[in-house]
Amino acid sequence: MPIRVLSTEVASQIAAGEVVERPASVVKELLENALDAGAKSVTVNITAAGRTLIQVADDGAGIPADELILAVERHATSKLVSADDLFRIVTLGFRGEALASIGSVSRLAITSRTADAPAGARLRVEGGIIGRLEKVGSPAGTVVSVEELFYNVPARLKFLKQDMTERRAIDALLTRYALAYPQVRFKLSEGNTPSLQTSGDGDRRAILAALYGVDTARQMLEVVAEEDGFKLSGFISPTALTRSNRKEITFFVNGRWVQDTPLNAALLQAYHTLLMVGRYPLAALFLEVPPEEVDVNVHPAKAEVRFRNPDKAFSFIQRATRRALLAYAPVPRVAPQNLWGSAPSQPRTIDPVWSLAHVESNVEGQRSGVESNVVVPPSLKTDKSQLTTPNSQLATPNIAVPLLRLIGQIGATYLIAEGPDGLYLIDQHAAHERVLFEKLMAQHEQKAIPSQALLTPAVVHLPPASAKLLEDQLPVLQHFGFHVETFGQNSYQVRAMPTLFANSDPAAALRALVEDFEEDETPLQNELEAKIAGRVCKRLAVKAGQVLSPDEQHALLADLETCASPRTCPHGRPTMIHLSVDTLERQFGRKGAR
Ligand code: ADP
Ligand code: MG
Repeated sequence: MPIRVLSTEVASQIAAGEVVERPASVVKELLENALDAGAKSVTVNITAAGRTLIQVADDGAGIPADELILAVERHATSKLVSADDLFRIVTLGFRGEALASIGSVSRLAITSRTADAPAGARLRVEGGIIGRLEKVGSPAGTVVSVEELFYNVPARLKFLKQDMTERRAIDALLTRYALAYPQVRFKLSEGNTPSLQTSGDGDRRAILAALYGVDTARQMLEVVAEEDGFKLSGFISPTALTRSNRKEITFFVNGRWVQDTPLNAALLQAYHTLLMVGRYPLAALFLEVPPEEVDVNVHPAKAEVRFRNPDKAFSFIQRATRRALLAYAPVPRVAPQNLWGSAPSQPRTIDPVWSLAHVESNVEGQRSGVESNVVVPPSLKTDKSQLTTPNSQLATPNIAVPLLRLIGQIGATYLIAEGPDGLYLIDQHAAHERVLFEKLMAQHEQKAIPSQALLTPAVVHLPPASAKLLEDQLPVLQHFGFHVETFGQNSYQVRAMPTLFANSDPAAALRALVEDFEEDETPLQNELEAKIAGRVCKRLAVKAGQVLSPDEQHALLADLETCASPRTCPHGRPTMIHLSVDTLERQFGRKGAR
């Protein structure tokens, strides 16, 4: 074939391929434009996972009517003038390509009004052909709608994944932008079904729950650091909370989501020696650096950045996250080891002040470095006798607890009670888990799990993989009093819950259940039912950090006393620690030598 210049149409479709790969990439570009326009509120509506419609409405600055045509032209932007500006860029966009690209592979309509214009204007572009400018009434701001993406490039359509996958990509995108811009109100819905809505009140932790689920979000550690013009904020998981891949690591640099960044390695370094091989942390981190420190023009979809001084960025991230990790969860649990005779098998989060105090007073001058997690001074390895340790309780889980006199709740996490033989510290979550589990299993054995219909059935959308898993478990869930019905593809409706969990959030329960299935690598065959019961109870039991009324505290204790195995949760962790009178006396030097 002879060389020839491509027609504008073909050239722009090829160029569009770089920017617009799937519905989520359209959403990303439109979202970025809205944020660049200073929007305080961004509403995204899609149908058919974005295939038939993607509409993004914002309340930002708007586009003057006489600039609308320029806006959809390639290499037309209001965000920079010269190439040098690239190193002063404070907007997300700068290539002037998105609208042109989208317009060449869809039916695009832009309606916009600036605050001072009396009326708005609308411009349509179909398959790259620009229509006439119309005058329309519209609120200040911009609405971009993209219909029938790739209608004129069928080859592209074939590369789209299942609706659920495309939908999940959009969900993931919105959630992450919502986290990065907590001051902006985001709303995502498909048809009339909203899937994400944030308040724009700046509270990142609330949005974190949309990304990770409530339980996980609550455990995440906050990171705030600043050094030499670099700022880092966000959340990282404590060492006990991990995933088997890096997918839950999110980095934003100067407000852009960057993927597969070398910054991931810096974060992983911070966890070095703290995680088992093959486990990865969760993180949502937001790095702000002076614009001249990064080159943002290295990727057509702007999904990567290059640092002028990569080592500086790397070590800043590494130190800031390591510091956060150690501050929240100092690694050597010296104090409990000394006090409880042997190390608890599960890592615990301990208030650093508390723990350090014990390091100093108990280790007779041998300060074991907080940095190293394996150094255990020999003096700590002996001394077994003093307490009923969690481990010895594990060996004898069936010992009943005596009648206990409730003293109260501490740290919104533990109950404290007195028994005839000393003091009991009870982990409210583990205890409640045990109570729920025994009740549920008892009902299950009698084949009579009372179930309660929900006034408003809860609808839950699941990713296809989870949906498949749930599908397999539906009969078992039914058995346990969860009436869950298919409600469209990969969506389910919870119609009834076990009465035992009447006050819990059904959608959260279902999601959490499936989340756990996903994490479990081995298929559940044996003891499937006990496992499911255990999971449900774990998810729905009161949490650490939840304030209980005196009545609730009493009820929990009374329930625990009637359990067959009150001393461990269904997963084998201790529900209580017992300090015997004898121990107390020894610890206070009233009796014997320490
Ligand atoms: P870029 O964002 O790289 O400048 P785009 O093709 O995405 O390129 O947008 C072209 C121009 O259209 C932008 O520079 C901006 O001036 C204008 N624009 C696009 N979307 C919006 C919006 N939602 N609100 C205000 N102006 C917008
Ligand atoms: Mg743009």
